[in-house]
Amino acid sequence: MSLQGKKALVTGGSRGIGSAIAKRLAADGATVAITYAGNKAAADATVAAIEQAGGTAFAFQADAADGASQRAGIEQAAGALGKVDILVHNAGVAEFATIEQDTDALFDRQFDVNVRGVHVGTRAALPHLSDGGRIILIGSISGELGLSAVATYSATKAAVAALARSWAKDLASRNILVNTVQPGPIDTDLNPADGEFAQQMTTMIPLGRYGTVDEVSGVVAFLAGPDASYVTGTTINVDGGTAA
Ligand code: NDP
Repeated sequence: MSLQGKKALVTGGSRGIGSAIAKRLAADGATVAITYAGNKAAADATVAAIEQAGGTAFAFQADAADGASQRAGIEQAAGALGKVDILVHNAGVAEFATIEQDTDALFDRQFDVNVRGVHVGTRAALPHLSDGGRIILIGSISGELGLSAVATYSATKAAVAALARSWAKDLASRNILVNTVQPGPIDTDLNPADGEFAQQMTTMIPLGRYGTVDEVSGVVAFLAGPDASYVTGTTINVDGGTAA
């Protein structure tokens, strides 16, 4: 198991892509702590699935939008793990609005969770992060595409990729590798493959289908593992060719 003995912290690990990442890192041998915003039942289910498969996992409530809550949750998770070798910032929200419909509240909410939460959370985790560790940010291909009604969300995800590029340089002297995974349309509660916009979205995907959460978690596992030892400061799209 490539991550045997490693300790991983995954934000937003209760559902969707984050839950799949937590399960995959655990299957590869890591002890995993997840955070969640409010869905304790889903967080407990992720922990239970990991433990049923023979792994070890913990869950902590932490609202990524709230600095004090995010810091406390990351501290608790790092304390339970003892150290952090792999930090995955997956928690995210998307609110669709054209510029005519957009509001301060929609803007603040998405930047608070998707960007500020990543910034606060990384600073809180850093004293616990091992030299040679990994930080993996979940961005989105919308961070590099112009799509109607997704401007603010897209701006948050462009910011995420920008943070990763600079942090890769800030942390290179400690051999901490920092990368962004940019999913395309992935079937989750946030973007269901049978949702309102799914048919139109699928026409943009060269592979002609939504991706699965496991197709994202596999790439995260690669970046977390020994084969990615010379990969830092980059973005990997997992999008069926959508952004090509
Ligand atoms: P889901 O809505 O299915 O799951 C979101 C997860 O994030 C849940 O675990 C949720 O916790 C957690 N979360 C949400 N808000 C907060 C918060 N304020 N504090 C802490 N945790 C929070 O989303 P996906 O799995 O689809 O998305 C995961 C990531 O992937 C996001 O960053 C998203 O932007 C990105 N992404 C998704 C794509 C897709 O098509 N699905 C495409 C591109 C990027 P809880 O269960 O408690 O609510």
